[in-house]
Amino acid sequence: MGGMSDQPKTPETPGPVTEAGAVRGFWERLGLPGLVDVHTHFMPERVLRKVWQYFDGLGPLTGGIEWPIAYREEEDQRLARLREFGVRAFTAMLYPHKPGMARWLNDWAVGFARRTPGCLHTSTLFPEDGVAEYVREAVEAGARVFKAHVQVGAYDPGDELLDPAWGLLAEAGVPVVIHCGSGPAPGKYTGPEPVGRVLARHPRLRLVVAHMGMPEYEDFLGLAERYGQVRLDTTMAFTDFSERLAPFPRRALPRLAALGDRILLGSDFPNIPYPYADQLTALERLDLGDDWLRAVCHDNGAKLFDLG
Ligand SMILES: [Zn+2]
Repeated sequence: MGGMSDQPKTPETPGPVTEAGAVRGFWERLGLPGLVDVHTHFMPERVLRKVWQYFDGLGPLTGGIEWPIAYREEEDQRLARLREFGVRAFTAMLYPHKPGMARWLNDWAVGFARRTPGCLHTSTLFPEDGVAEYVREAVEAGARVFKAHVQVGAYDPGDELLDPAWGLLAEAGVPVVIHCGSGPAPGKYTGPEPVGRVLARHPRLRLVVAHMGMPEYEDFLGLAERYGQVRLDTTMAFTDFSERLAPFPRRALPRLAALGDRILLGSDFPNIPYPYADQLTALERLDLGDDWLRAVCHDNGAKLFDLG
């Protein structure tokens, strides 16, 4: 055996890039302190299992598309993943599909936010008696964001029962992530018109249009252009999965660039049929530049939620 020191040094073989490594590499390259993800789902286990069953059964919400949930794991494992990914703030999007459920979900969400570092206390609502009262209670209890699901709830967001609740949320400046686009399957009240009527009455309401309004992208961009407090979340948009179903029109890219301070990263974790990093890659390949990515993936959310 000759002297080992004479041997040319072989560079260390890089290990396989882990999933967390890929996600962290994305925001580290941009010089960010992490990600802010406004659209992640946490709910009582029993409800979440039902949602997963629904996706498995190709229910109407999936538009009949195969939807293998990528992160079908225990809650603590899902939370550990977000920590590993470096998601410094995220939400617990939950939503009722019938009356009498929202208050109970909101009670659960208070406890979840309390025991979960990084979780922005999330609440929900439904057009029903008492909605203004429990929305007020949630805001007083420190809710940072609401979720409304027009398709699953099958209600008109312009329902007069909701009017005082929207007014209250507009006044308090609490954002509402709202699934109001007609993707992946339309509902009776999805699309830009019903929600447009709400905005006409409450122009300062901080609606965050989920999924970029998929597939009515351009109509919802129009609402954001018209109302300065309207934002859009990226949830599932631009990924290969969604581009096959509802491609984002290339001609709208300049509008997306111009609204760079009102687009927020959303992922739909854990209910996604692909790895988390796909959402980030999809945003990167829009080619709107690093400043746009920094704003969307962190800074806009940090500002909206006062994260410093
Ligand atoms: Zn979602």
